[in-house]
Amino acid sequence: MCGRTFPLSLCPVLALLRAVPIRCLITAGPTREFLDPVRFLSNPSTGKMGFAIAAAAVEAGWTVDLVAGPVSLPEPAGVMLYPVVTAAEMHRQTEALFGPADVLIATAAVSDWRPKVRHAQKLKRDGSALTLELEPCPDILAAMSAQRRPDQLLVGFAAETERVEEHARRKLESKGIDCIAANSVAGSSGAFGSDTNTLILLGRDGSREVLGPSSKSAVARALVAALAARLPRR
Ligand code: C5P
Repeated sequence: MCGRTFPLSLCPVLALLRAVPIRCLITAGPTREFLDPVRFLSNPSTGKMGFAIAAAAVEAGWTVDLVAGPVSLPEPAGVMLYPVVTAAEMHRQTEALFGPADVLIATAAVSDWRPKVRHAQKLKRDGSALTLELEPCPDILAAMSAQRRPDQLLVGFAAETERVEEHARRKLESKGIDCIAANSVAGSSGAFGSDTNTLILLGRDGSREVLGPSSKSAVARALVAALAARLPRR
């Protein structure tokens, strides 16, 4: 109907579609899995990469929901920030926001295990050894992938200490996602806490793109541009 009545640039339906921003959901930072009120399992993720991607996505005009574990970073302007602490909380919050999302970018370093028992009071040291029983945390990205719509773009991160690309490809397949950004966290130049990064963006379609080495903000902008280019082709 538009084609006959209006020149394409004036078609109201197309104009409306273009006016709806891409909705992006990002997970970032570590999670904490408590053994008792004062002790937890976690990892050295600072959330810098996820926050840089959130800022780059806002710059690109996207609507951004950012679900972040405990980090010491300023809230990026223009995002909706949802602070969480545990993997279970991150899972619940991500699931609540996933439906309307066009893109999910899972940068969070979610704990893989949590203590099976969370003691209500601080455990007392008595000089003897303590054996912890751990259970797996929910795999948030895999859970979203299991309930995804085909039009949603799912992007994972693979932080690896060895055979980075090989492990990342395996994760791309096993989690049923569209792309994975692989980065090395080996040694002192690894991605955790650093201000610079190199990402190898691997696509389910066999594509491979190296982003960086550069500042995390520049790498984040390149990632958002690379993902934006994939959206119309979905
Ligand atoms: O399996 P692995 O932890 O290496 O996978 C990394 C990817 O999966 C990242 O995108 C990470 O945010 C996501 N992930 C998750 N929930 C977990 C573990 C990882 O969403 N419990």
